[in-house]
Amino acid sequence: MDFLKRLTETPGVPGREERVRELILKETEGLFDETRVDPMGTLICLKRAGRREGNAAPLKVLIACHIDEIGFYVRSIDDAGRLRVQNVGGFDTRNLFARRVLVSTRSRDLLGVLNPTGKPIHIASDEEKKQVPKISDFFVDLFLPKEEVEKLVRVGDPVTLVQTMETIGDYVTGKCMDNRVASWVAINAIRKVGANSPYDIYYAATVQEEVGLRGAGTIAYDVNPDVGVAVDTTLSCDTPGIDKTESITALGKGVALKVMDSASISHRGLLDEFMALAEKKKIPHQLEVLPLGGTDAGTIQRAGAGRRTITLSIPTRYIHTVCETVHRKDLDAAVDLLAAWLAGERG
Ligand SMILES: [Zn+2]
Repeated sequence: MDFLKRLTETPGVPGREERVRELILKETEGLFDETRVDPMGTLICLKRAGRREGNAAPLKVLIACHIDEIGFYVRSIDDAGRLRVQNVGGFDTRNLFARRVLVSTRSRDLLGVLNPTGKPIHIASDEEKKQVPKISDFFVDLFLPKEEVEKLVRVGDPVTLVQTMETIGDYVTGKCMDNRVASWVAINAIRKVGANSPYDIYYAATVQEEVGLRGAGTIAYDVNPDVGVAVDTTLSCDTPGIDKTESITALGKGVALKVMDSASISHRGLLDEFMALAEKKKIPHQLEVLPLGGTDAGTIQRAGAGRRTITLSIPTRYIHTVCETVHRKDLDAAVDLLAAWLAGERG
């Protein structure tokens, strides 16, 4: 869990994923046969097939795990030295009140507080209390004089939310479980398979997913895999106020096999394959139909001449907040299922 903690606590907004990439490179030293970074910033790591099945060249499997997190870029600095921000990725602004943030400047990281303009509840009118602010209403207070801020901060510096990762029993809570859990799952699965896979496995730490599945497109074109597996988080709405029929997934019930979302429909044969394997190995799993949202699979499926894809999802409560929460059992189930499939096992 220590690796996951470091993954989730490292800042990496879309377009500025370099620190997460470096962390992964360091952590996986010696695991892969080849590593490289594409022009967009995606880290591609190849682990060659450890064994042969017949004389044909090994099939290429791409495992896409986006490493960007929703965040902001500095848009302007106002007369009092406070920052205005532009979001990169989808926030519900009701979750953004009074948040600690990190502004990553050229020279160092600055801690600040993000809050919307307006009054504290004690002095706000009934009308004011009802208003939901827009992103453009939020500012970052760095508690520094304007001159100092102007010296340190540039328009375009990335801003991320601050939150430590904590374990509560079998639950793990923190920021950007979406989608650092995917890299944790994929790397652990690849370690587990060892030299036992008949496939050339390409693990890709993709970039700019949260702004429209951008990094996955170039990688799919570059690697041209036979099969694409995206690993990502999905909604787990197993909380009060949401009808059971709309819960999508539930925490602790296993890895979710995505049937569809609004960006892709998983290849039916591949879905059946994963389902049968999970059943055979008694790996907890659930099926997922997500009305709105997408993963890298949406881009990978259609790049070039296309290919079979599927998404393995990690159920996540309170998604796109700093309290994203996952269940240890679901993480382990995802590792076990992915590792078994990569080892060539079938149901
Ligand atoms: Zn995601």
